[in-house]
Amino acid sequence: MTIYAFDFDGVVCDSSNETAYSGVKAIAELSGNFIEPTKKLLADFRVVRPCLHTGWESIFIVAMLAKGIDAVEITKDYDHFLEAWLNEHEYSSDYLKSVYGNVRDQWIQGDLKSWLAVHDFYPHAINFIKDLQEPFYIITTKGHRFAVALANAAGINIPDDNIFGLESGPKEQTLKDLRIKFPDQSISFYEDRLPTLLKVANENIHCLNLILVDWGYLKDGDLELAAANGIETISSF
Ligand SMILES: [Mg+2]
Repeated sequence: MTIYAFDFDGVVCDSSNETAYSGVKAIAELSGNFIEPTKKLLADFRVVRPCLHTGWESIFIVAMLAKGIDAVEITKDYDHFLEAWLNEHEYSSDYLKSVYGNVRDQWIQGDLKSWLAVHDFYPHAINFIKDLQEPFYIITTKGHRFAVALANAAGINIPDDNIFGLESGPKEQTLKDLRIKFPDQSISFYEDRLPTLLKVANENIHCLNLILVDWGYLKDGDLELAAANGIETISSF
């Protein structure tokens, strides 16, 4: 028997538009400026999305794009742009994280239907998960409450406790805990963020298959780098 573990955004759920909309709302909260979430902004956001580490950075991405900075240029020097922007505005990441979390919570509490509606799901991933007979887990950097709401909306039948969110800490630790819980099973972990897979690979957890999915938020060169590190890539379930 194999135990399945899935990252959520970029593996099961396409949340790029929602992340951009939440960034727009957070900027309105921070500065009072409303930035129109045009089709172009959403498309450009999708280009930069693979660089994003955690959700609140969408505030920065939307702000850069609204200033007219080219999406590809941002991806070329993302960390530098981000640091410079934080310094310029004297924002701390903790502060932005709380603003971002609050606008999202207000959106969900005020209008859950519209929040769910701006998400898409990858149909082949949903079908694969729905057909699974084996135990499966979701391991995500999304807040637990958000991931639970979305999994329910997608019709995934999973106990809340099988979803490990942001609050559960690093993914490698969650996978180690699963290794202890299921000492005799192989575990397959599906993820679209290569740096996360490389970090997990460093832990040398036995009988853990690491799989990069190519339909999520990949950066240029990820497929080659995965192959060079012996990490399997899949294009569909
Ligand atoms: Mg992901």
